[in-house]
Amino acid sequence: MPELPEVETVCRTLRPHVAGRRIELVEVRERRLRRPIAPDFESRLLGRRIRGVRRRAKYVLLDVGAGEEWAVHLGMSGRFCVGAPPPTLTHVHVVVHLEGGGRLYYRDPRRFGLMLVTRGEADLGELGVEPLSPGFTGNLLWRLRRNHRRITVKSLLMDSRKVVGVGNIYANEALFEAGVRPTRRFGRLTRREVDRIAEVVPAVLLRAIESGGSSLLDYRDGEGRSGSFQTRLHVYDRAGEPCRRCGATIRGTVLSGRGSFHCPRCQA
Ligand SMILES: [Zn+2]
Repeated sequence: MPELPEVETVCRTLRPHVAGRRIELVEVRERRLRRPIAPDFESRLLGRRIRGVRRRAKYVLLDVGAGEEWAVHLGMSGRFCVGAPPPTLTHVHVVVHLEGGGRLYYRDPRRFGLMLVTRGEADLGELGVEPLSPGFTGNLLWRLRRNHRRITVKSLLMDSRKVVGVGNIYANEALFEAGVRPTRRFGRLTRREVDRIAEVVPAVLLRAIESGGSSLLDYRDGEGRSGSFQTRLHVYDRAGEPCRRCGATIRGTVLSGRGSFHCPRCQA
């Protein structure tokens, strides 16, 4: 599933192709996404000029002026790319034609994604702190710890109402970097461990952005390219394989229905 580094990479790769371009035609082929695409979606975008592209949480947000943004969520398997979709490509649900002949298309085989026009972030639900913002600090996590003592540290990092954009891949990787097992109760962490987590989460995300994200299943950036961070993962999906740092066998468990991975020697 695309997480913060993948969505950030989509934003960065789309930006030069769409900024300043006017939307000439909106073609919706399938409305049934996680929430149906609104009946007025096409008319709200038609004729608007895209002023910029930014990311908030796991949303790609295209500024279409008048205080409105075209919000796109990639769900589990979404792809949001420039160019005309190849004619044989299935599950292309939306195609947007830009002035000058450019196109953007949205493909999502599992249809867990979202496509909507928003007026402000409130339309996107309750979103927590951005892990790449100055607000993501050891102090913040330490304050959160007061009211979330029993939840595991991994579940806390993956709760988008608290911290956005960190999904299963990067929660596992960051906790490896921090030397903390994913199953630890948040309330049992020391101040030193919390500070370390606040340091490594953004560091891991930034390294993944530099690699264009991780392409595990369907993920592609805005220009259709794969990322390469999957080759640099330390623990995620590596159960039974040797730790790249110490050689011990990586362990896999299931935590809240999601695969959790840790090195028994590197993580306490
Ligand atoms: Zn190890």
